[in-house]
Amino acid sequence: MTDIIHLLPDSIANQIAAGEVIQRPASVVKELVENSLDANAKHIHIIIKDAGRTLVQVIDDGKGMSMTDARMAFERHATSKIKTSEDLFALYTRGFRGEALASVAAIAHVELKTRRAEDEMGTWLKIAGSKVESQETIFCAVGTTISVKNIFFNVPARRKFLKSNETERRNIFTEIERIALVNPDIEFTVIENDVQTMHLPPANLRQRIVQMQGKGINQQLIEINEETTLAKIHGYVSTPQFARKGRANQFFFVNNRYIRHPFFHKAVMTAYEPLISATENPNYFIYFEVEPDTIDVNIHPTKTEVKFENERALWQILMVTVKESLGKFNAIPSIDFDTADAPDIPIFDPSKSTSMPKVNINPDYNPFQPSYGESTRISKPRLDWEQMYRGFENEGKPMSGSPDADATLFQSNESLVSPKHYQYKEKYILTSVKSGLMIIDQHRSHVRILFEKYLSQITNRKGISQRVLFPERIELTSSEASSLSEIQEDMEALGFEMSDLGNNSFAIQGIPSELQNVDAVALVRSMIDKNMETGSNIQEQMHEKLALSMADFTAIPAGKSLTEEEMLRMVDQLFACQSPNHTPDGKSIITVISDDEMENKLK
Ligand code: ADP
Ligand code: MG
Repeated sequence: MTDIIHLLPDSIANQIAAGEVIQRPASVVKELVENSLDANAKHIHIIIKDAGRTLVQVIDDGKGMSMTDARMAFERHATSKIKTSEDLFALYTRGFRGEALASVAAIAHVELKTRRAEDEMGTWLKIAGSKVESQETIFCAVGTTISVKNIFFNVPARRKFLKSNETERRNIFTEIERIALVNPDIEFTVIENDVQTMHLPPANLRQRIVQMQGKGINQQLIEINEETTLAKIHGYVSTPQFARKGRANQFFFVNNRYIRHPFFHKAVMTAYEPLISATENPNYFIYFEVEPDTIDVNIHPTKTEVKFENERALWQILMVTVKESLGKFNAIPSIDFDTADAPDIPIFDPSKSTSMPKVNINPDYNPFQPSYGESTRISKPRLDWEQMYRGFENEGKPMSGSPDADATLFQSNESLVSPKHYQYKEKYILTSVKSGLMIIDQHRSHVRILFEKYLSQITNRKGISQRVLFPERIELTSSEASSLSEIQEDMEALGFEMSDLGNNSFAIQGIPSELQNVDAVALVRSMIDKNMETGSNIQEQMHEKLALSMADFTAIPAGKSLTEEEMLRMVDQLFACQSPNHTPDGKSIITVISDDEMENKLK
């Protein structure tokens, strides 16, 4: 028998390793620009062709490299930034691993021109597929220019995975945006296909936000600033009046590095809670500074998750800080923000357990009262359930005394008269019932229908999986991964198929067959986030939470127009539900305006 194990050639090993660091043109942009910043550049030009497929070039006026360093820079684990393991500890927020240039050189044609101020001549180096093709001495400006051409030229499988130019371009700008927001004093210029598409002159933070988001944002920025022993927090949040439906600009940074943090996001949203509706999103740009040894940064350069040692205490500090700033701005008319009663930001004492800071809220505050001026929302239609029950009772329907009595109210289609369903504002389905006009919230109704369906799939293990063509990779923090392990079995019951890739990464290989066009990664994330929000060990509760988070994510939104047939089916399915009147989290789905009410109004 011949031996069958052999070592992979370096070039292949490098390509495999490169896949970790360089996933798309945007990763090249990120790594190169971060290197320029590390080299103390003040002006950085980013030149892009074909969304980075054919060229990513970064020109900086940083400190440059010597001839030997220029050559060394492309070796794996070659870095000038870490010498001892203590350095590693202090610096690792940026993820220095000395791998970026080696990785880029493994999968593209790379050209480097660099000169230090103390050298008369610079170095010109060409590398492709990890092989040095030429090295020469040349005249060039102080600083470094790196061109990365034909990304993945030697890894067709990866090239195929690149998305449309529009998507790749968006990814590039996402990276640039995150970097520019922590380096307002640095000038950035972006040139795409020979046209300058972005120019950010040196600025302060507020100006930088305005440069990036447009002038309109200036008037909505409220400064936040808080210093505690646990962290310094500063930045800007938007006035509640500017909260919008849909995507908002929401950024957390820790020690100048962009992070995602669903738990802290919740803290911000809690501060806004009395001021905006659940579907609106505020803008925020929030910067934490903490001791590096109080966070667990996953050193992987492509990850954006960070675990804080004092997460719970920081949650409260953040929530109160934002709330207080909103209050000082006089954005909350009815909350008493007298300084005498202002919440004290607790200085954290790790030996004591923390408690929720007290905020004085006027219990009589009614956001629907007209005295709150222009911004008053349309008042909710008043619903007299008691009267409604009576209305149905009179029609011979038994009234059960159970707390969920309303759940059985509309169960029989008998109470529905001639379905002439009408969709109002792409949000409500109106239909006539014996006692009056029934209004059904289409989104909530769908949430209820899907919730009951998913819940039964989980308990009966009935979900059908559908394999995805291109498995997507999802990177989690260790706490998220452990949250996933709690719900993974139930998710499989729904039809998800996930495989563990190690290092808290997972591949999503299958999704429930009834889901179409969903962002699987976002869906899985939202289910994990929901599970983390309020931990529960009771299986029944976990099942319900899981079913609800999936229903929330997949239900048709307000704003979707429905055909007559879809409305019919929706109403049928709703009344086939066990509890058609409320969403699982207690929001009303249905209201009826009785004939009497209508007549009264029209008198
Ligand atoms: P790391 O940034 O983790 O050190 P890289 O592979 O990104 O690893 O870069 C390797 C080394 O090359 C850096 O440590 C630095 O010394 C040098 N280098 C890279 N880019 C630049 C640049 N634009 N200007 C000066 N030196 C650079
Ligand atoms: Mg680097």
